[in-house]
Amino acid sequence: MIRPILKYGDTILHDRAQPVDAITPDVERLIDDMIETMYAAPGVGLAAPQVGVPLRIFVVDVSVGRDPTGLHVVINPEFVERDGMQLEEEGCLSVPGFNATVVRPSRAVLKGLNRQGEAQQLEGSGLLARAFQHEMDHLDGTLILDRTDDESRRQALGILRPQPVLQ
Ligand SMILES: [Zn+2]
Repeated sequence: MIRPILKYGDTILHDRAQPVDAITPDVERLIDDMIETMYAAPGVGLAAPQVGVPLRIFVVDVSVGRDPTGLHVVINPEFVERDGMQLEEEGCLSVPGFNATVVRPSRAVLKGLNRQGEAQQLEGSGLLARAFQHEMDHLDGTLILDRTDDESRRQALGILRPQPVLQ
């Protein structure tokens, strides 16, 4: 089931998400829905708080479904290593219409559980490293707006502020 994606300003997006204690049928359903919602958007990643569930789960697929091995489901992720630096434009499904240039490490290794509850370690560089870090930020209540300079943030808030409806 495709779930609605929360937008900038919703408090769930700005709070720290909680660890998953057990992979219950509800959590499994949430993961299926997150994958479906990410592909439908389409996006390269989605974190549970973006669909209104404050749990530490994200899904990433930088191939957007083209590569069957490209899908990663990560539960309770933690960084193991990060190094290098990349500076690229980034967008976010929760901040529609806004792209920010964000500095991030160019390589990231993280550990967490897969959807079966087994330990896994994942390594990404370039776009995949960026996606891991973008989604990790969501689990800590951080949006790209919090990672950009003041001028870009002001511009973004101008775009995001609801415009008056004239009728
Ligand atoms: Zn995002």
